[in-house]
Amino acid sequence: MSASEHEIRTVFPAGHRIFIEGEKGDVAFIIERGRVEIAFERNGRSVRVAILGQGEIFGEMALIDDRPRSATATALVPTEVVIVRREQIRSSLKHSDSTVRLLLEVLLGRFRAMQGRLDWMATDGEAPGAATRDLRDKATESHTEAIDRLKFQREIEHAIETGAFRLQLQPIVSLKDGNVEGFEALVRWDHAERGAIPPSQFIQLAETADLVQGIDRWVVGRVIDILARLQREHRRPAGEKPTYIAVNLSGHSIADDRVIAEIKHGLREVGVDPKRLRLEITEGALIDNPKKVSEVLDDLSSVGVRAGIDDFGTGYSSLAYLVGFAIRTLKIDRAFVQSMLSNDNSQEIVRAIIGMAHALGIEVVAEGVESLEQLHALWRMECECIQGFLLSRPLEVETAVTVARSGPMLSTGPVLLGRY
Ligand code: C2E
Ligand code: CA
Ligand code: CA
Repeated sequence: MSASEHEIRTVFPAGHRIFIEGEKGDVAFIIERGRVEIAFERNGRSVRVAILGQGEIFGEMALIDDRPRSATATALVPTEVVIVRREQIRSSLKHSDSTVRLLLEVLLGRFRAMQGRLDWMATDGEAPGAATRDLRDKATESHTEAIDRLKFQREIEHAIETGAFRLQLQPIVSLKDGNVEGFEALVRWDHAERGAIPPSQFIQLAETADLVQGIDRWVVGRVIDILARLQREHRRPAGEKPTYIAVNLSGHSIADDRVIAEIKHGLREVGVDPKRLRLEITEGALIDNPKKVSEVLDDLSSVGVRAGIDDFGTGYSSLAYLVGFAIRTLKIDRAFVQSMLSNDNSQEIVRAIIGMAHALGIEVVAEGVESLEQLHALWRMECECIQGFLLSRPLEVETAVTVARSGPMLSTGPVLLGRY
């Protein structure tokens, strides 16, 4: 850790108790010179954990959680320390990259694991009590978790560097004129050892580990490049809407100002019409953090990027709830589309969703359309667009670019027929 103008330094005399086991604290210490003993009391005895010297840090758990000090720190000789406050760390962590955050967690995890072991030793070899065992298990678990996460982050970074992520684009087709209005970008991971991993197996994991932003940033960058190409190579007649690509943005990415700044900067730098980029946000992300999502959507819609709600109907949000958000599209979850014909309730829900969306000026896309019967039913309900295996599976980028250029995918009329 480097010195900064905000740091506070203190010299403790030999024998001074810097902090005592059981008391609360919200600062950590870095030793500039001197020596500090870390010890805790067990059965009336003081058990020494470590003697620390120059450059070492102690009391760091207080920076993360509110638990009381788990040991006593005593200066063994006159010792100069730099005091790090919890607030200071919180604000710099907020602005630091995830590696720094991870390292801190790993270090804490290790410390907790060590504590668990020491608790056991300090009981004079007796079997550890349930509480201690629990603490130790938790410590080891959080340690393993932190390491796993670090590995996972390296894998994601490695995948980005080596081009192991790949995009596929699935056409979204208008039921009015059969044209391909746009595509949804779907990420795939070609893992060197494990083969192709579908997003269902890694996106949620990446979200839990707060690492999904890296993937979403890669996808957005790649999509902006493809859009620039479509814009250059595929000019539609004046008055026709430009082909768009919709990107799935996780709630974590929406909350990350860097991701949003990159989207705006990327579009400007490459000169892509912002209308060509759309964002898909799940109901869950919206409900988890409505204020932030609302701010971000307002911000992006002011530059022309449209947003839509994904998987509509699976969460808890009502259409009324969406009124306050800059939402222009709604995607009906494929669960409804697929049960629509066999289940009257589903069909009524789909009809109601479409009707209400239209009343609010929101366009509807039905996803997961696999049969002509579903297509016809949606057409009758005046759903604007469909997406699904019936018309096309997700395509490799080159194929999608060709599809974008080759005119309608459906011939429209009283009877709609798929071209594929
Ligand atoms: P989603 O956003 O609901 O994407 C649609 C999923 O439905 C895709 O699965 C697509 O391949 C599949 N699908 C499309 N048409 C049909 C159909 O007719 N029948 C059936 N059974 N499935 C169909 P995929 O590609 O496996 O993606 C799964 C989920 O992973 C996505 O669900 C999305 O939530 C997430 N995801 C994919 N790419 C990204 C990404 O770049 N970023 C983020 N944050 N999430 C992503
Ligand atoms: Ca989606
Ligand atoms: Ca969806």
